[in-house]
Amino acid sequence: MIPFQYVRPSKQKAAIEANAKDRNAQFIAGGTNLIDLMKRGVMTPEKLIDINRLPLQKIERSKNVVRIGALASNSNVAEDKVIQEKLPLLAQALNAGASAQLRNMATVGGNMMQRTRCPYFYDTAMPCNKREPGTGCGALEGFNRMHAIFGFSDMCIAVNPSDMNVALVALDATVLVAGPKGERTIPFAEFHRLPGDHPEVDTTLQKGELILAVDVPDNPYAKHAHYLKVRERTSYAFALISVAAALDIENNIIKSARLAMGGVAHKPWRLTEAEKALAGKPVSEASFKQAAEVAMRGAKAFEHNAYKLRLGPSTIIQALKTAAGIA
Ligand code: SF4
Repeated sequence: MIPFQYVRPSKQKAAIEANAKDRNAQFIAGGTNLIDLMKRGVMTPEKLIDINRLPLQKIERSKNVVRIGALASNSNVAEDKVIQEKLPLLAQALNAGASAQLRNMATVGGNMMQRTRCPYFYDTAMPCNKREPGTGCGALEGFNRMHAIFGFSDMCIAVNPSDMNVALVALDATVLVAGPKGERTIPFAEFHRLPGDHPEVDTTLQKGELILAVDVPDNPYAKHAHYLKVRERTSYAFALISVAAALDIENNIIKSARLAMGGVAHKPWRLTEAEKALAGKPVSEASFKQAAEVAMRGAKAFEHNAYKLRLGPSTIIQALKTAAGIA
């Protein structure tokens, strides 16, 4: 590990200034991903700005929204009574991620910022456009079993590894950030980006911007929501494919739906066309099959991940059935 400076400001303004003025500075909270990346030489920040002293841990319910502080731990959010009652999809997704020990340390903001688990990204002996722009993509012609089937580019086919992000994009969350130019909000669907020509850039955050909170608006989906994660072992593994499914049902008719997938793209993958296909349909396996077909349009596999083209629709159908209570 290379030497680095460590600072621990207690004021938001000081934290933002410390980051903004230093090209190679990084915020750190739980450190569950960044420390690993530093040990392996994948990320080499010269300054770490520890933000744990900032008052960003609260989970608060106001009139139409649940606000989750960026420093709330994944386990505290998952166990929070308001989250369990109003946003069970989010609680389920958080509990599907990592291990209990990691969930105790990892924060909501850190979960959003975690890097891909593409093995070529972590192996500094291999080419990787995300780690070192212009070196190529080891996964394109390599072992690409865990990689994307949507939204990839010639430069990168990695996937976003978070479970929480899949639930938050399905629930129309927004992200509150503060930076050198003040505060702004970013729709969750626009927070993570597709790789395009710049896979080294994961998010739309500007230099110096700090995540303050995530706002999740009230929704009618608490009764019929399910997060289904398919992985190689239940104890602790990243998703091969996951699905966040939420339905608003009245008299056996789907009034509206929310649907998103994980493990398939460089960002949490919202399935808006499939949501439209579900609206107005009866609760039935046929409706869910049709939505799954719509959801998978445009998917394309690489040499080792063709199984995702079959696993995707079956996971969507099962998640919707469980959400609807007909599984
Ligand atoms: Fe790097 Fe992306 Fe290629 Fe993986 S898929 S090797 S992260 S460029």
